Amino acid sequence: MTGLLIVGASQAGVQLVASLRALGFDEPITLLGEENHRPYQRPALSKEFLQDKVGKESLIFRSQEYWDEHRVDLVKGQRIERIERRADGSGTAHAASGRAFAFDRLALAVGARARRLEVDGAGLAGVLYLRNADDALALKAAMPAARDVVVIGGGFIGLEAARSAHALGKRVTVLEAGPRLVGRAVGEETSEYFLRAHRAAGLDIRLGAQVARFVGDDGDGGRLTGVELADGEVIPAQIALVGIGVVPNTELAEQMGLAVDNGIVVDRYARASDGATVAVGDCANLPNPVPGSPAGERLRLESVNNAVEQAKVAAYSVVGRREEYAGIPWFWSNQGDLKLQIAGLSLGHDATVVRRDDARGKFSVLYYRAGRLIAADCVNHPLDFMAVKNALAQGATIPADLVADAAVPLKGLARPA
Ligand SMILES: Cc1cc2nc3c(=O)[nH]c(=O)nc-3n(C[C@H](O)[C@H](O)[C@H](O)COP(=O)(O)OP(=O)(O)OC[C@H]3O[C@@H](n4cnc5c(N)ncnc54)[C@H](O)[C@@H]3O)c2cc1C
Repeated sequence: MTGLLIVGASQAGVQLVASLRALGFDEPITLLGEENHRPYQRPALSKEFLQDKVGKESLIFRSQEYWDEHRVDLVKGQRIERIERRADGSGTAHAASGRAFAFDRLALAVGARARRLEVDGAGLAGVLYLRNADDALALKAAMPAARDVVVIGGGFIGLEAARSAHALGKRVTVLEAGPRLVGRAVGEETSEYFLRAHRAAGLDIRLGAQVARFVGDDGDGGRLTGVELADGEVIPAQIALVGIGVVPNTELAEQMGLAVDNGIVVDRYARASDGATVAVGDCANLPNPVPGSPAGERLRLESVNNAVEQAKVAAYSVVGRREEYAGIPWFWSNQGDLKLQIAGLSLGHDATVVRRDDARGKFSVLYYRAGRLIAADCVNHPLDFMAVKNALAQGATIPADLVADAAVPLKGLARPA
């Protein structure tokens, strides 16, 4: 019997352990995941790791000594398929292997999985995804023999991987079904900036591109040779990397009868609808944590920062204290020479101001909602990023009429909201 069973041994689960031990939580913890790797950081998988700039060992979060010292039973390679619970919140998690894990308390840190593209030829060798270490190892192994890489999906991971493949000397085409790049996460100005910059760097980017099927040399069992578009064009490819978003892993929560709506629904304290289970990271749907957001606005965030901050909140809940999300959500994405940092959430913005300094390769967009600063996308501009992040953290705004001149630093312009 363990005190706390954490299902999902990745960014959120690892942070939950660290925060609980820092708070003095003394009970046995089992950190369990289905992957056969020690918990590792994902961001480099599409960047430095793919480009052979860092090795696998450098991505591992903690040594075995850490887990031993912190009295954590790290269980790898076990997929939980069913969870039985008693009225007091304790229960037993059943793995596909037949093993059972009894617990007093449960945390779900099960993350998300890559959305599959179900078109003809999806089973061909060379059609790949990038969510976990095994995916990244398969992609890396396929790279040397590939000349043409087609990336399907112009979101963060697709663009990061596209620039990595390009840096490895591949001919890269990006197929985005929507009208602009990274449409879910950034505004039009940032999309446009990325489009121009990636094209200038040598990527062939097609917007509004519909994949009809994958073409192979020998039916569905063969190797990929190209990607066919709806208009009949076949783009040569030995690798097709599909990066069309993720699906939160909510099956266990559903089976337990917890509220689920684009993720496991949690309150400000990371508690699921039963009040006992905590759910954290990419799998959780939480109230918008940005100060001043409309009551009842909810969202699911897919970022390291969110996994870390929510895990801290959840740790307080597990020890019976109430602490809300601290700080402002932020995110980064490195795409070749473009270092994007996002502070805040642009959800619901009704105005933007662009700050552009082409001579120095800097670009920022500030987002406003009802006259109040809510977020910024900053490309190669850490000073703008820090200024906005600090202003938001203080509950302040930076008036839109003061920011248009990119030569004027944002630092010092914050005013009470
Ligand atoms: C290639 C890539 C690049 C990224 N780059 C960035 C970046 O630059 N910046 C940034 O902020 N974020 C980035 N992210 C996102 C970031 O990595 C995620 O937000 C973060 O990993 C979420 O952590 P998590 O613990 O919630 O979920 P996950 O990392 O998805 O981990 C969930 C774990 O739970 C396991 N699991 C699921 N179901 C079960 C089950 N039933 N039984 C047992 N185990 C189970 C899974 O196998 C997985 O190991 C990137 C992600 C990827 C894939």
